[in-house]
Amino acid sequence: MSHPAQDHSANLESFPENARRALNDSQLRGALRHATGVIDERRGQAVERVACWQELRERAKTLKAATLERLDHWLELFERNAIARGTQVHWARDAAEANAIVARLAADAGARTLVKSKSMTTEEIGLNQHLEELGHRVVETDLGEYIIQLAGETPSHIIVPAIHKTRAEIGELFHRTLGVKDSKDPKELTAIARERLREEFARADMGISGANFAIAETGSFLVLENEGNARLCTSLPRVHVALIGIEKVIPRLADLEVFLRLLPRSGTGQHLTSYQTLFSGPRAAGREGPEELHVILLDNGRSAMLSDSLSRQALACIRCGACLNVCPVYGQIGGHAYASVYPGPIGSVITPMLQGVEQAHHLPFASSLCGACRDVCPVGIDLPALLLKLRSKVRQGSAGSGDREQRRAFRLWSLAMSGPRRYGLLLRALRLARPLLERPGARSRLARWVPPLAAWTAAREFRPPAGRSFRELWRDQEAKDS
Ligand code: SF4
Repeated sequence: MSHPAQDHSANLESFPENARRALNDSQLRGALRHATGVIDERRGQAVERVACWQELRERAKTLKAATLERLDHWLELFERNAIARGTQVHWARDAAEANAIVARLAADAGARTLVKSKSMTTEEIGLNQHLEELGHRVVETDLGEYIIQLAGETPSHIIVPAIHKTRAEIGELFHRTLGVKDSKDPKELTAIARERLREEFARADMGISGANFAIAETGSFLVLENEGNARLCTSLPRVHVALIGIEKVIPRLADLEVFLRLLPRSGTGQHLTSYQTLFSGPRAAGREGPEELHVILLDNGRSAMLSDSLSRQALACIRCGACLNVCPVYGQIGGHAYASVYPGPIGSVITPMLQGVEQAHHLPFASSLCGACRDVCPVGIDLPALLLKLRSKVRQGSAGSGDREQRRAFRLWSLAMSGPRRYGLLLRALRLARPLLERPGARSRLARWVPPLAAWTAAREFRPPAGRSFRELWRDQEAKDS
Protein backbone atom coordinates (compact mmCIF):
# COMPACT_ATOMS: atom_id res chain seq x y z
CA MET A 1 0.00 0.00 0.00
CA SER A 2 1.32 3.45 -0.83
CA HIS A 3 2.46 5.44 2.10
CA PRO A 4 3.07 9.09 2.90
CA ALA A 5 6.55 10.42 3.37
CA GLN A 6 6.98 11.00 7.08
CA ASP A 7 10.13 13.09 7.37
CA HIS A 8 8.49 16.31 8.49
CA SER A 9 11.57 17.96 9.96
CA ALA A 10 13.17 18.58 6.58
CA ASN A 11 10.13 20.59 5.50
CA LEU A 12 9.68 22.83 8.52
CA GLU A 13 11.56 25.61 6.73
CA SER A 14 8.91 25.74 4.03
CA PHE A 15 6.12 26.99 6.29
CA PRO A 16 5.75 30.50 4.73
CA GLU A 17 5.67 29.06 1.24
CA ASN A 18 3.23 26.29 2.23
CA ALA A 19 0.97 28.81 3.97
CA ARG A 20 0.92 31.05 0.89
CA ARG A 21 0.03 28.07 -1.32
CA ALA A 22 -2.75 26.97 1.05
CA LEU A 23 -4.20 30.49 1.12
CA ASN A 24 -4.64 30.32 -2.64
CA ASP A 25 -6.46 26.97 -2.46
CA SER A 26 -10.11 27.94 -2.16
CA GLN A 27 -11.31 24.29 -2.09
CA LEU A 28 -9.05 23.54 0.89
CA ARG A 29 -10.16 26.66 2.74
CA GLY A 30 -13.82 25.87 2.08
CA ALA A 31 -13.43 22.29 3.42
CA LEU A 32 -11.56 23.56 6.48
CA ARG A 33 -14.01 26.35 7.23
CA HIS A 34 -16.93 23.96 7.08
CA ALA A 35 -15.37 21.13 9.13
CA THR A 36 -13.72 23.21 11.85
CA GLY A 37 -16.88 25.32 12.16
CA VAL A 38 -19.13 22.27 12.61
CA ILE A 39 -16.83 20.61 15.17
CA ASP A 40 -16.37 23.80 17.16
CA GLU A 41 -20.11 24.45 17.23
CA ARG A 42 -20.71 20.94 18.56
CA ARG A 43 -17.96 21.46 21.14
CA GLY A 44 -19.58 24.70 22.29
CA GLN A 45 -22.99 23.04 22.69
CA ALA A 46 -21.55 20.04 24.56
CA VAL A 47 -19.57 22.29 26.90
CA GLU A 48 -22.55 24.54 27.64
CA ARG A 49 -24.43 21.58 29.05
CA VAL A 50 -21.79 20.94 31.72
CA ALA A 51 -22.40 23.41 34.52
CA CYS A 52 -19.07 22.71 36.22
CA TRP A 53 -16.95 22.95 33.05
CA GLN A 54 -14.51 25.55 34.42
CA GLU A 55 -14.13 23.57 37.61
CA LEU A 56 -13.38 20.42 35.62
CA ARG A 57 -10.74 22.31 33.61
CA GLU A 58 -9.12 23.50 36.80
CA ARG A 59 -9.11 19.98 38.23
CA ALA A 60 -7.56 18.59 35.06
CA LYS A 61 -4.92 21.33 35.01
CA THR A 62 -4.03 20.71 38.65
CA LEU A 63 -3.96 16.93 38.19
CA LYS A 64 -1.72 17.17 35.15
CA ALA A 65 0.65 19.63 36.83
CA ALA A 66 0.93 17.44 39.94
CA THR A 67 1.52 14.30 37.83
CA LEU A 68 4.21 15.97 35.75
CA GLU A 69 5.97 17.11 38.95
CA ARG A 70 6.56 13.44 39.84
CA LEU A 71 6.38 11.84 36.42
CA ASP A 72 9.24 9.45 37.13
CA HIS A 73 7.38 8.04 40.14
CA TRP A 74 4.11 7.48 38.22
CA LEU A 75 5.91 5.95 35.24
CA GLU A 76 7.72 3.45 37.43
CA LEU A 77 4.48 2.58 39.19
CA PHE A 78 2.80 2.10 35.82
CA GLU A 79 5.62 -0.18 34.70
CA ARG A 80 5.48 -2.31 37.88
CA ASN A 81 1.71 -2.75 37.70
CA ALA A 82 1.68 -3.43 33.96
CA ILE A 83 4.37 -6.12 34.31
CA ALA A 84 2.43 -7.69 37.21
CA ARG A 85 -0.51 -8.12 34.81
CA GLY A 86 1.61 -9.75 32.13
CA THR A 87 2.25 -6.73 29.89
CA GLN A 88 5.79 -6.39 28.55
CA VAL A 89 7.06 -2.84 29.04
CA HIS A 90 9.80 -1.26 26.90
CA TRP A 91 11.39 2.18 27.18
CA ALA A 92 12.42 4.24 24.13
CA ARG A 93 14.59 7.33 24.44
CA ASP A 94 13.83 8.52 20.91
CA ALA A 95 12.11 7.69 17.63
CA ALA A 96 14.93 5.44 16.44
CA GLU A 97 14.77 3.30 19.57
CA ALA A 98 10.98 3.06 19.46
CA ASN A 99 11.02 2.08 15.77
CA ALA A 100 13.68 -0.55 16.44
CA ILE A 101 11.64 -2.08 19.27
CA VAL A 102 8.49 -2.34 17.12
CA ALA A 103 10.50 -3.78 14.23
CA ARG A 104 12.03 -6.40 16.52
CA LEU A 105 8.64 -7.36 17.92
CA ALA A 106 7.21 -7.61 14.39
CA ALA A 107 10.11 -9.82 13.32
CA ASP A 108 9.72 -12.04 16.43
CA ALA A 109 6.02 -12.41 15.68
CA GLY A 110 6.75 -13.23 12.03
CA ALA A 111 4.36 -10.43 11.17
CA ARG A 112 3.86 -9.49 7.54
CA THR A 113 0.62 -7.49 7.76
CA LEU A 114 0.23 -5.05 10.65
CA VAL A 115 -2.99 -3.19 11.37
CA LYS A 116 -2.87 0.16 13.11
CA SER A 117 -5.41 2.26 14.91
CA LYS A 118 -5.11 6.03 14.94
CA SER A 119 -2.03 7.24 16.81
CA MET A 120 -0.28 10.58 16.48
CA THR A 121 2.65 9.19 18.48
CA THR A 122 3.37 6.61 15.77
CA GLU A 123 3.17 9.45 13.21
CA GLU A 124 5.68 11.36 15.33
CA ILE A 125 8.28 8.60 15.05
CA GLY A 126 7.56 7.79 11.37
CA LEU A 127 6.72 4.20 12.30
CA ASN A 128 4.89 3.21 9.09
CA GLN A 129 7.75 4.29 6.90
CA HIS A 130 10.25 2.43 9.04
CA LEU A 131 8.27 -0.81 9.02
CA GLU A 132 7.57 -0.63 5.30
CA GLU A 133 11.24 -0.15 4.55
CA LEU A 134 11.78 -3.45 6.37
CA GLY A 135 9.22 -5.18 4.15
CA HIS A 136 6.16 -5.14 6.43
CA ARG A 137 2.72 -4.17 5.19
CA VAL A 138 1.13 -1.55 7.45
CA VAL A 139 -2.58 -0.80 7.11
CA GLU A 140 -4.23 2.19 8.80
CA THR A 141 -7.70 1.23 10.01
CA ASP A 142 -9.17 4.51 11.28
CA LEU A 143 -11.33 5.75 8.39
CA GLY A 144 -9.64 9.16 8.22
CA GLU A 145 -6.16 7.60 8.42
CA TYR A 146 -7.13 5.00 5.80
CA ILE A 147 -8.16 7.81 3.42
CA ILE A 148 -4.90 9.65 4.07
CA GLN A 149 -2.86 6.51 3.53
CA LEU A 150 -4.60 5.80 0.22
CA ALA A 151 -3.92 9.40 -0.82
CA GLY A 152 -0.23 9.11 0.13
CA GLU A 153 -0.54 12.06 2.50
CA THR A 154 0.00 12.77 6.19
CA PRO A 155 -2.82 13.68 8.64
CA SER A 156 -3.76 17.35 8.65
CA HIS A 157 -5.54 17.38 12.02
CA ILE A 158 -4.90 15.64 15.34
CA ILE A 159 -8.43 14.22 15.61
CA VAL A 160 -9.75 14.41 12.04
CA PRO A 161 -6.82 13.39 9.81
CA ALA A 162 -8.70 13.90 6.52
CA ILE A 163 -10.40 17.17 7.53
CA HIS A 164 -9.09 18.87 4.40
CA LYS A 165 -10.82 16.45 2.02
CA THR A 166 -14.32 16.86 0.60
CA ARG A 167 -16.67 13.89 0.04
CA ALA A 168 -16.18 14.25 -3.70
CA GLU A 169 -12.40 14.02 -3.32
CA ILE A 170 -12.72 10.91 -1.14
CA GLY A 171 -15.13 9.29 -3.64
CA GLU A 172 -12.70 9.96 -6.47
CA LEU A 173 -9.80 8.63 -4.36
CA PHE A 174 -11.62 5.35 -3.59
CA HIS A 175 -12.57 5.01 -7.25
CA ARG A 176 -8.96 5.53 -8.35
CA THR A 177 -7.20 3.43 -5.71
CA LEU A 178 -9.74 0.71 -4.85
CA GLY A 179 -11.44 0.38 -8.25
CA VAL A 180 -14.96 0.98 -6.84
CA LYS A 181 -17.63 3.18 -8.40
CA ASP A 182 -17.29 6.92 -7.79
CA SER A 183 -19.59 8.09 -5.00
CA LYS A 184 -20.14 11.10 -2.77
CA ASP A 185 -22.35 9.26 -0.31
CA PRO A 186 -20.62 9.03 3.10
CA LYS A 187 -22.55 5.84 3.96
CA GLU A 188 -21.46 4.11 0.76
CA LEU A 189 -17.86 5.27 1.20
CA THR A 190 -17.77 4.07 4.80
CA ALA A 191 -19.21 0.69 3.80
CA ILE A 192 -16.49 0.27 1.16
CA ALA A 193 -13.75 1.05 3.69
CA ARG A 194 -15.31 -1.24 6.28
CA GLU A 195 -15.45 -4.18 3.86
CA ARG A 196 -11.82 -3.73 2.82
CA LEU A 197 -10.59 -3.28 6.37
CA ARG A 198 -12.37 -6.37 7.70
CA GLU A 199 -10.20 -8.45 5.35
CA GLU A 200 -7.10 -6.74 6.69
CA PHE A 201 -8.05 -7.36 10.32
CA ALA A 202 -8.56 -11.03 9.56
CA ARG A 203 -5.12 -11.44 7.99
CA ALA A 204 -3.10 -9.20 10.37
CA ASP A 205 -0.39 -10.76 12.51
CA MET A 206 0.17 -7.79 14.76
CA GLY A 207 -1.83 -4.75 15.91
CA ILE A 208 -0.44 -1.33 16.82
CA SER A 209 -2.14 1.48 18.72
CA GLY A 210 -1.38 4.53 20.77
CA ALA A 211 -3.22 5.33 24.01
CA ASN A 212 -5.10 8.29 25.38
CA PHE A 213 -4.14 7.64 28.99
CA ALA A 214 -1.92 5.20 30.90
CA ILE A 215 -3.01 4.55 34.47
CA ALA A 216 -0.20 4.09 36.98
CA GLU A 217 -2.34 2.57 39.73
CA THR A 218 -3.48 -0.36 37.57
CA GLY A 219 -0.84 -0.61 34.82
CA SER A 220 -3.64 -0.24 32.25
CA PHE A 221 -4.02 2.02 29.25
CA LEU A 222 -7.13 3.48 27.67
CA VAL A 223 -7.93 3.82 23.98
CA LEU A 224 -10.84 6.03 22.89
CA GLU A 225 -12.37 5.71 19.44
CA ASN A 226 -15.63 5.92 17.53
CA GLU A 227 -15.38 3.28 14.84
CA GLY A 228 -14.60 0.03 16.62
CA ASN A 229 -11.47 -0.38 14.52
CA ALA A 230 -9.12 0.06 17.47
CA ARG A 231 -10.91 -2.75 19.29
CA LEU A 232 -10.45 -5.04 16.29
CA CYS A 233 -6.81 -3.95 16.01
CA THR A 234 -6.15 -4.83 19.60
CA SER A 235 -8.10 -8.06 19.87
CA LEU A 236 -7.85 -9.94 16.55
CA PRO A 237 -4.07 -10.07 15.94
CA ARG A 238 -2.08 -12.36 18.21
CA VAL A 239 0.35 -9.63 19.29
CA HIS A 240 -0.43 -6.04 20.21
CA VAL A 241 1.96 -3.13 20.67
CA ALA A 242 0.91 0.21 22.17
CA LEU A 243 3.21 3.20 21.74
CA ILE A 244 2.62 5.68 24.55
CA GLY A 245 4.25 9.06 25.15
CA ILE A 246 5.50 9.29 28.74
CA GLU A 247 3.28 12.32 29.39
CA LYS A 248 0.14 10.18 28.98
CA VAL A 249 0.43 8.62 32.42
CA ILE A 250 -2.11 9.61 35.08
CA PRO A 251 -1.98 8.40 38.69
CA ARG A 252 -5.33 6.75 39.37
CA LEU A 253 -8.23 5.09 37.58
CA ALA A 254 -10.56 7.57 39.30
CA ASP A 255 -8.73 10.45 37.54
CA LEU A 256 -10.29 9.26 34.29
CA GLU A 257 -13.59 10.63 35.55
CA VAL A 258 -12.25 14.16 34.96
CA PHE A 259 -10.52 13.55 31.64
CA LEU A 260 -13.33 11.49 30.13
CA ARG A 261 -15.70 14.38 30.65
CA LEU A 262 -13.31 16.86 29.05
CA LEU A 263 -11.76 15.01 26.13
CA PRO A 264 -14.73 13.77 24.04
CA ARG A 265 -16.60 17.07 24.45
CA SER A 266 -13.56 19.12 23.47
CA GLY A 267 -12.50 16.85 20.62
CA THR A 268 -15.71 16.04 18.79
CA GLY A 269 -18.52 17.56 20.85
CA GLN A 270 -19.56 14.11 22.08
CA HIS A 271 -20.63 13.38 25.63
CA LEU A 272 -18.84 10.05 25.42
CA THR A 273 -16.64 8.46 22.81
CA SER A 274 -18.39 5.40 21.30
CA TYR A 275 -15.74 2.90 22.39
CA GLN A 276 -13.64 3.21 25.52
CA THR A 277 -11.34 0.24 25.91
CA LEU A 278 -9.16 -0.27 28.94
CA PHE A 279 -6.29 -2.72 28.41
CA SER A 280 -5.02 -4.40 31.53
CA GLY A 281 -2.70 -7.12 30.34
CA PRO A 282 -2.80 -9.85 27.70
CA ARG A 283 -5.46 -12.53 27.35
CA ALA A 284 -5.95 -14.55 30.53
CA ALA A 285 -8.65 -16.57 32.20
CA GLY A 286 -11.68 -14.29 32.30
CA ARG A 287 -9.91 -11.52 30.35
CA GLU A 288 -10.03 -10.87 26.60
CA GLY A 289 -7.15 -9.42 24.63
CA PRO A 290 -4.13 -10.31 22.53
CA GLU A 291 -1.89 -13.23 23.47
CA GLU A 292 1.07 -10.88 23.83
CA LEU A 293 0.75 -7.28 24.93
CA HIS A 294 3.64 -4.80 24.71
CA VAL A 295 3.78 -1.18 25.82
CA ILE A 296 6.53 1.14 24.61
CA LEU A 297 6.99 4.26 26.74
CA LEU A 298 8.39 6.97 24.49
CA ASP A 299 10.42 9.98 25.60
CA ASN A 300 11.58 11.58 22.31
CA GLY A 301 12.25 15.06 23.79
CA ARG A 302 9.54 15.02 26.45
CA SER A 303 11.86 14.84 29.47
CA ALA A 304 13.71 17.91 28.16
CA MET A 305 10.36 19.73 28.12
CA LEU A 306 9.78 18.62 31.70
CA SER A 307 12.87 20.42 32.93
CA ASP A 308 11.42 23.87 32.18
CA SER A 309 8.38 24.92 34.22
CA LEU A 310 6.78 26.82 31.32
CA SER A 311 7.33 24.27 28.56
CA ARG A 312 6.23 21.52 30.97
CA GLN A 313 2.72 22.96 30.62
CA ALA A 314 2.59 21.74 27.02
CA LEU A 315 3.01 18.14 28.22
CA ALA A 316 -0.44 18.43 29.80
CA CYS A 317 -2.00 18.35 26.32
CA ILE A 318 -4.58 15.58 25.93
CA ARG A 319 -4.62 15.92 22.11
CA CYS A 320 -8.26 16.93 21.80
CA GLY A 321 -7.63 19.17 18.78
CA ALA A 322 -9.97 21.94 20.03
CA CYS A 323 -7.27 24.59 19.71
CA LEU A 324 -6.89 23.76 16.00
CA ASN A 325 -10.59 24.22 15.31
CA VAL A 326 -10.71 27.76 16.74
CA CYS A 327 -7.35 28.98 15.46
CA PRO A 328 -7.76 31.62 12.72
CA VAL A 329 -4.39 30.62 11.25
CA TYR A 330 -5.07 26.86 11.14
CA GLY A 331 -8.56 27.61 9.79
CA GLN A 332 -7.06 29.33 6.76
CA ILE A 333 -4.11 27.10 5.92
CA GLY A 334 -4.85 23.64 7.36
CA GLY A 335 -2.44 21.17 8.89
CA HIS A 336 -0.16 20.31 5.98
CA ALA A 337 1.23 23.85 5.77
CA TYR A 338 2.89 23.37 9.17
CA ALA A 339 4.87 20.40 7.75
CA SER A 340 4.80 18.99 11.26
CA VAL A 341 3.02 15.97 12.73
CA TYR A 342 1.35 18.27 15.24
CA PRO A 343 -0.20 21.32 13.53
CA GLY A 344 -2.16 24.32 14.84
CA PRO A 345 -1.44 26.15 18.09
CA ILE A 346 -0.31 23.09 20.06
CA GLY A 347 1.84 21.99 17.11
CA SER A 348 3.44 25.45 16.93
CA VAL A 349 4.37 25.00 20.58
CA ILE A 350 5.49 21.38 20.81
CA THR A 351 7.20 21.02 17.44
CA PRO A 352 9.91 23.59 18.30
CA MET A 353 10.17 22.05 21.77
CA LEU A 354 10.57 18.51 20.43
CA GLN A 355 12.60 19.25 17.32
CA GLY A 356 14.43 22.44 18.30
CA VAL A 357 13.59 26.12 17.75
CA GLU A 358 16.24 26.39 15.01
CA GLN A 359 14.41 23.79 12.91
CA ALA A 360 10.90 25.05 13.58
CA HIS A 361 11.56 28.79 13.97
CA HIS A 362 8.63 29.85 11.78
CA LEU A 363 5.95 28.03 13.76
CA PRO A 364 5.77 30.19 16.93
CA PHE A 365 4.93 33.10 14.62
CA ALA A 366 2.03 31.22 13.01
CA SER A 367 -0.42 32.75 15.45
CA SER A 368 -2.41 35.94 15.83
CA LEU A 369 -2.13 35.55 19.64
CA CYS A 370 -5.88 36.09 19.84
CA GLY A 371 -6.09 33.67 22.78
CA ALA A 372 -8.95 31.55 21.38
CA CYS A 373 -6.80 28.42 21.79
CA ARG A 374 -6.22 29.11 25.49
CA ASP A 375 -9.94 29.75 26.02
CA VAL A 376 -11.00 26.36 24.62
CA CYS A 377 -8.15 24.22 25.94
CA PRO A 378 -9.73 21.71 28.36
CA VAL A 379 -6.56 21.51 30.45
CA GLY A 380 -5.99 25.28 30.49
CA ILE A 381 -2.65 25.40 28.66
CA ASP A 382 -1.62 29.02 28.15
CA LEU A 383 -0.66 28.53 24.50
CA PRO A 384 -0.18 32.25 23.67
CA ALA A 385 2.28 32.60 26.58
CA LEU A 386 4.22 29.58 25.33
CA LEU A 387 4.25 30.95 21.79
CA LEU A 388 5.60 34.28 23.06
CA LYS A 389 8.31 32.50 24.99
CA LEU A 390 9.30 30.55 21.89
CA ARG A 391 9.29 33.73 19.80
CA SER A 392 11.73 35.31 22.19
CA LYS A 393 13.93 32.20 21.99
CA VAL A 394 13.92 32.43 18.21
CA ARG A 395 14.83 36.12 18.40
CA GLN A 396 17.69 35.41 20.78
CA GLY A 397 19.17 33.03 18.25
CA SER A 398 20.13 33.90 14.74
CA ALA A 399 17.32 31.88 13.17
CA GLY A 400 14.46 33.69 11.48
CA SER A 401 14.91 35.57 8.24
CA GLY A 402 13.59 39.11 8.38
CA ASP A 403 13.85 39.01 12.14
CA ARG A 404 16.54 41.71 12.36
CA GLU A 405 14.29 44.04 10.40
CA GLN A 406 11.35 43.30 12.65
CA ARG A 407 13.51 43.98 15.71
CA ARG A 408 14.57 47.32 14.23
CA ALA A 409 10.96 48.17 13.47
CA PHE A 410 9.89 47.40 17.02
CA ARG A 411 12.78 49.46 18.40
CA LEU A 412 11.67 52.47 16.33
CA TRP A 413 8.11 51.92 17.39
CA SER A 414 9.06 51.72 21.06
CA LEU A 415 11.09 54.93 20.72
CA ALA A 416 8.10 56.74 19.25
CA MET A 417 5.73 55.33 21.88
CA SER A 418 7.89 56.15 24.87
CA GLY A 419 6.48 59.66 25.37
CA PRO A 420 3.22 61.40 24.42
CA ARG A 421 5.07 64.29 22.74
CA ARG A 422 7.11 61.93 20.54
CA TYR A 423 4.05 59.93 19.65
CA GLY A 424 2.12 63.09 18.77
CA LEU A 425 5.00 64.33 16.61
CA LEU A 426 5.21 61.03 14.75
CA LEU A 427 1.49 61.06 14.03
CA ARG A 428 1.65 64.64 12.82
CA ALA A 429 4.58 63.82 10.52
CA LEU A 430 2.75 60.83 9.13
CA ARG A 431 -0.36 62.88 8.51
CA LEU A 432 1.67 65.52 6.68
CA ALA A 433 3.11 62.74 4.52
CA ARG A 434 -0.33 61.31 3.82
CA PRO A 435 -0.85 62.99 0.40
CA LEU A 436 2.52 61.55 -0.70
CA LEU A 437 1.66 58.10 0.66
CA GLU A 438 -1.61 58.07 -1.24
CA ARG A 439 0.03 58.44 -4.63
CA PRO A 440 -0.22 55.21 -6.70
CA GLY A 441 2.56 52.76 -5.81
CA ALA A 442 4.03 55.08 -3.15
CA ARG A 443 3.36 52.76 -0.19
CA SER A 444 4.89 49.68 -1.78
CA ARG A 445 7.94 51.75 -2.86
CA LEU A 446 8.37 53.08 0.67
CA ALA A 447 8.04 49.57 2.09
CA ARG A 448 10.76 48.39 -0.27
CA TRP A 449 13.14 51.23 0.62
CA VAL A 450 12.69 51.05 4.40
CA PRO A 451 13.71 47.48 5.41
CA PRO A 452 11.64 47.32 8.63
CA LEU A 453 8.56 48.31 6.67
CA ALA A 454 9.39 45.79 3.96
CA ALA A 455 9.45 42.99 6.52
CA TRP A 456 6.28 44.23 8.17
CA THR A 457 4.35 44.61 4.95
CA ALA A 458 5.46 41.26 3.47
CA ALA A 459 2.25 39.75 4.80
CA ARG A 460 0.33 42.83 5.96
CA GLU A 461 -1.28 45.81 4.33
CA PHE A 462 0.39 49.17 5.01
CA ARG A 463 -2.42 51.57 5.78
CA PRO A 464 -2.04 55.35 5.62
CA PRO A 465 -2.67 57.27 8.86
CA ALA A 466 -6.21 58.49 9.51
CA GLY A 467 -6.98 62.14 8.76
CA ARG A 468 -7.58 62.90 12.44
CA SER A 469 -6.13 61.07 15.42
CA PHE A 470 -8.25 59.40 18.09
CA ARG A 471 -7.17 61.98 20.65
CA GLU A 472 -8.21 64.84 18.38
CA LEU A 473 -11.59 63.23 17.77
CA TRP A 474 -11.98 62.73 21.54
CA ARG A 475 -11.13 66.38 22.22
CA ASP A 476 -13.60 67.53 19.55
CA GLN A 477 -16.33 65.40 21.06
CA GLU A 478 -15.62 66.70 24.56
CA ALA A 479 -15.75 70.28 23.27
CA LYS A 480 -19.11 69.55 21.65
CA ASP A 481 -20.50 67.91 24.78
CA SER A 482 -19.50 70.79 27.02
S1 SF4 B 1 -3.41 22.21 23.66
FE1 SF4 B 1 -5.35 21.98 24.73
S2 SF4 B 1 -6.89 22.39 23.13
FE2 SF4 B 1 -4.96 21.98 22.04
S3 SF4 B 1 -4.99 19.79 21.60
FE3 SF4 B 1 -3.93 20.02 23.57
S4 SF4 B 1 -5.51 19.78 25.12
FE4 SF4 B 1 -6.57 20.15 23.19
